[in-house]
Amino acid sequence: MHLTILYRGPIISCNYGCEYCPFAKRQQSAAELAVDRQALEQFVNWVAQHSQHQFSILFTPWGEALIHNWYQQALVQLTQIPHVHKAAIQTNLSCQLDWVEECNKDRLALWATFHPEWVSRDRFLSKCLELDRRGVRFSAGVVGFPKYKDEITNLRRELPNHVYLWINAVKKELPNLSTQDRNFFESIDPLYELNTQHYPSFGRACRAGESVISVDGDGKMRRCHFIKEPIGNIYERDWETALCDRLCTNQTCHCHIGYVHLDYLELDKVFGSGILERIPNNWALQRLR
Ligand code: SF4
Ligand code: SF4
Repeated sequence: MHLTILYRGPIISCNYGCEYCPFAKRQQSAAELAVDRQALEQFVNWVAQHSQHQFSILFTPWGEALIHNWYQQALVQLTQIPHVHKAAIQTNLSCQLDWVEECNKDRLALWATFHPEWVSRDRFLSKCLELDRRGVRFSAGVVGFPKYKDEITNLRRELPNHVYLWINAVKKELPNLSTQDRNFFESIDPLYELNTQHYPSFGRACRAGESVISVDGDGKMRRCHFIKEPIGNIYERDWETALCDRLCTNQTCHCHIGYVHLDYLELDKVFGSGILERIPNNWALQRLR
């Protein structure tokens, strides 16, 4: 079985302070961080021990995890495990990047978000260029507020063509956007409009709960991050029995890490093997033409 896991441990802190974010500048005590570290180590060991399955893993922390060396080491370890196809993480890219050299880079991917109010474009760009130089697969992106348009224009101009720059649609701001704003975002990210939708999902087939699950620091399995009801626990013997076809019980799904698994959207054809780190299929090839 090939299982995709979205892992979100107990971390809820960040070194940046984006005004719209509940984790902005939140700090955790050494004891709280130790719990996160222990949970992550247990998870990585569990993956290593289940060599009868294939795994793809995306870390979707609440806050910034990659500034902590235990997440860097988790990626080093996971990418060295033969039955792990991919280990990816969402990050603000503020950490040092030398650790990537210890990874199997064929299996590593980063989902990097630029926060113009917290880091200069030059600094974010230099990290992106470093990733590129080091041969790491990554997408870069920005939250789609019109106030960032100049920064986005410049970032697109400065990033290598083969790096995909996504724009996250701010759903509740959409009614306030002009046609020009939406056209602008689409000129940067041809898939921007895909991200502006609340996709009807109730009663629809979704791979979440069958071949994709979310796992928390205690090992609790959920179908996805958006349906809170647990379906099992990976640390229990019978964990695999929880995996089965299920229809979505939410009315809509509006986040990339969720709706890409809705069968009827067929977004696996759009993103292919880059579905976790949000890189469209053959993006680099298309841009080189
Ligand atoms: S970088 Fe991400 S986690 Fe940190 S404050 Fe900004 S949005 Fe929140
Ligand atoms: S459609 Fe979205 S909310 Fe529904 S099960 Fe899939 S990922 Fe979860």
